Amino acid sequence: MPGKNPRELGLLADCESCFGLCCVALPFAASADFAVDKDAGRPCHNLRDDFRCSIHSQLRQSGFQGCTVFDCFGAGQKVSQGTFEGRSWREAPGTARQMYAVFPVMRQLHELLWYLAEALTLEAAQPVHASLRQALEETERLTGQSADVLEKLDVAAHRAEVNELLLRTSELARAGLKGREHRSADLIGARLRGAGLRGANLRGAYLIGADLRDADLRDADVIGADLRGADLSGADLTGAIFLTQAQVNAAKGDTATRLPGALTRPSHWAEEGRPPAASRRPRRRRR
Ligand code: SF4
Repeated sequence: MPGKNPRELGLLADCESCFGLCCVALPFAASADFAVDKDAGRPCHNLRDDFRCSIHSQLRQSGFQGCTVFDCFGAGQKVSQGTFEGRSWREAPGTARQMYAVFPVMRQLHELLWYLAEALTLEAAQPVHASLRQALEETERLTGQSADVLEKLDVAAHRAEVNELLLRTSELARAGLKGREHRSADLIGARLRGAGLRGANLRGAYLIGADLRDADLRDADVIGADLRGADLSGADLTGAIFLTQAQVNAAKGDTATRLPGALTRPSHWAEEGRPPAASRRPRRRRR
C-alpha cells in the first residue's frame, strides 16, 4: 500500500464507471459557477439516461463552469462500482438516498488518501512516515466499508486526526525554508505578482482572484487554499504541498505555470486564450 500512486489508489475520477453522482447527489446554487439551482438528489437536467453529460464539451460556455472545476478524487466510481456493486440509482431507486449520502463521505476519504499518498512521497516527512502509512491504511479500510457504515461514519473526526499528521508533515517539509506565514489569511484579490512565497504556509488562505502571476510558490503548503480565479500565469508551484486538481482547475494559468507532477494543466486554461502544454498526468476519463 505505501508507495501507491493516486491511480493505484483509485483517486483519479473515472466518469465512465460512475452513475453521474456529482450531477445528482450534490446541490447547485445558481451563480457564476452554475446556470441553475438544483437540489441535492435531483438529477441535473443535462444528465442523460446513460449517465453522460449532454453538454460536456460546452460546460463553461453554458454557464456550468463549476462542473469543470469539481474533482471527486475517484469517489464517484468507488461508490458506484464498489459500495453499491454496479447497481445504479436508476436500476434500484430504493438505494438512491443512501448512495447520495455516502458519496460526500467517500469523497472526503478519497481526498484524505490523496494527501496521505503525497505526504508519503516527501522524504523530509520520514519521521512520520510510519504514522502516515497507518493513517493511509485505515482510511483505505474505511472506503471499503458497507453503505450502512459509511453513512454513519464520523468522517470529520477521522479528518481531524489525519490533519494533525498532515500538519506535522508540512512543518517537516518546509523546515529551513523560512516561508511566510499566511495560514487562513484573507488574501482575496491580493497583488502578489512575483511574490516570494516559497515554503509559505498558505493553509486555508483565501486567495480568490489574487494576482499570483510569476509568484514563487515552490514547496508552499496550499492545503484548502481557495484559489478561485487566482491568476497563476507564470507561477512556479513545483513541489507545492497538498495542491489538488480542483484548486488548479479553479484558478487561471498559462503554459508557463509550473505544476507538481501529479497534476494536469486544465484544458480551459488553453480555451481562455493560451495554448495548452503537455499534460503531466493522464487525463481523467470524462463523459
Ligand atoms: S466527477 Fe465523474 S466520477 Fe466523479 S462523481 Fe462526477 S461523474 Fe462521477
